Amino acid sequence: MEIKKGVAVSPGIAIAKSLIIDSEDYRIPRRSVKPPQRMIEVQRARNAFKVAADELVRLEGGQNAIEQRKIKDIFAVHLSFLKDRSLRKKITDLIHSESVTAEYAVSATLRDIASHYTKIKDTYISERAADIYDIERRLLRQLLGGKREDVEHLTEEVTVVARNLSPTQTASFNRKFVKGIATDAGGRTSHTAIVARSLGIPAVVALEGLTDTISGGDIVIIDGNRGIVIINPDEGTLRQYEEYSREFAALEHRLDSIREEPAVTRDGVEVTLLGNIEFPDEAEIVLQKGGAGIGLYRTEFLYLNSQTEPTEEDHYHAYAKTVRVFKHRPVIIRTMDLGADKYTQSKRFAREPNPFLGLRSIRFCLQNLTMFKTQLHAILRASVLGEVKIMFPLITNLQELMQTKMILRDVMEDLDEESIAYNRDIKIGVMIETPSAALTASSLARDVDFFSIGTNDLVQYTLAVDRGNELVSMLYSSVDPAVLRLIRMIVQDAHKAQISLSLCGEMASEPEYIMLLLGMGVRMISLTPPMIPEIKQIIRSVTVEDCNDVARTVLGMNSERQISSYLRDAARKILPEAF
Ligand code: PEP
Ligand code: MG
Repeated sequence: MEIKKGVAVSPGIAIAKSLIIDSEDYRIPRRSVKPPQRMIEVQRARNAFKVAADELVRLEGGQNAIEQRKIKDIFAVHLSFLKDRSLRKKITDLIHSESVTAEYAVSATLRDIASHYTKIKDTYISERAADIYDIERRLLRQLLGGKREDVEHLTEEVTVVARNLSPTQTASFNRKFVKGIATDAGGRTSHTAIVARSLGIPAVVALEGLTDTISGGDIVIIDGNRGIVIINPDEGTLRQYEEYSREFAALEHRLDSIREEPAVTRDGVEVTLLGNIEFPDEAEIVLQKGGAGIGLYRTEFLYLNSQTEPTEEDHYHAYAKTVRVFKHRPVIIRTMDLGADKYTQSKRFAREPNPFLGLRSIRFCLQNLTMFKTQLHAILRASVLGEVKIMFPLITNLQELMQTKMILRDVMEDLDEESIAYNRDIKIGVMIETPSAALTASSLARDVDFFSIGTNDLVQYTLAVDRGNELVSMLYSSVDPAVLRLIRMIVQDAHKAQISLSLCGEMASEPEYIMLLLGMGVRMISLTPPMIPEIKQIIRSVTVEDCNDVARTVLGMNSERQISSYLRDAARKILPEAF
């Protein structure tokens, strides 16, 4: 038995055999061969090309509808690569000159070509890199055959163990079989952690070296409450955890029963609890958990799972589906927050050196106006179906906000010309998630209807700590005095300007921070759906007077450690059963 400690990011307990997956999808098990083996490797590479090409021809034949033309085009490009003699010759030469395996030669050659493509400034050419990686995977699938482990075709329950996972990979997991997630890398507010929480899959991250310790098929316990992973537990530990797991399920069941109760403090102050979602399907879960609407719809996930860019109709259907669940209640649609750790399939390999400070979010939209306008067009069309609001992420200054609003007005004019109905008075908000936005909140407030504080990014940019980097996860804290001063300022500026304010970062789903937030004047929060009942229970157990005392004391403190330990004690005193 071995116990590893990491960071708990999604609550619950999972016990199942491990499935180890590689973030590259494929591992090359062996690089070199003895010289006499070279001809065999050349033949293996040739066969792989042939089988892959036959497979593509077969697949292409299966796509008969006209709307599949785009897919046919992609297949045609892939086929032309597979039939390219000079490419095959490069691979054969490499096998002969370096005495390497067919899989190594295929991978090295194709990755070399892809990296040249990504450096070319022309978007069309740089995006072809994604095709090359696709071809590489197809060939490796032939060469490695059954030696690789596959998460797409599961038939039994597993715990997924990986060095790192992308938000897209995590979002594609089948909840029926993937019972828990454990990774070497990551942090509490990385998007992968957020997705695991939304899916309700227990997860622990920042378990340095876990993948070196574990073998596929080992029994693994993932304790997403305490941040612990136990490999090959002994009989006693296993029984103890089976009992914990039952207790946890019973607690969740009890909390679900307060679904219909209002989120009101003991002294009668009402708090609005909204849900954060990544996919339209989750709107139902927010409703089931007792949420009063959607406070953050992370629309960029529309781009992450698909090989092609979503059309305006794809956008519209996703928004319409969500709005229909919350017909007369707010649905805040955040425009795409691509970049940083969330890339479209085509941009997957064109990484920036410092992506969180790079072409991310609204900056990306302002440089890709066609894409942005398509999304705005769809949001405005959906605005007549319910109480849709629109929210712009990562606004860092007034000029950016003005430019964004101008584009929105352009799209409104286009709709007018096309005689398409939309809500002219749609509420417009911004996320306050950079120190510069927080420091200029009073001027931004004059031009918007609401603010939503994005603490996940606000913390990383204020403290200069990458939210997804396990090496600095101990420095990442939402209750650092610097962060709290900024939050207080944002709340005060929103109140002064009489605009609505909510907080939608992961801080809102931390039971220990709720009293502090209420004491600082926050009355609306948006959080991961599974946590809504627990947070509601806490709100119903406190008075605003207690919360004001907590906030006063905390804002007088200068050390993060002191604040954290004070908040833990305060929460335990007021609500011993929850902690
Ligand atoms: C945030 O930054 O707090 C936020 C809610 O947005 P995201 O986590 O999607 O960056
Ligand atoms: Mg953010």
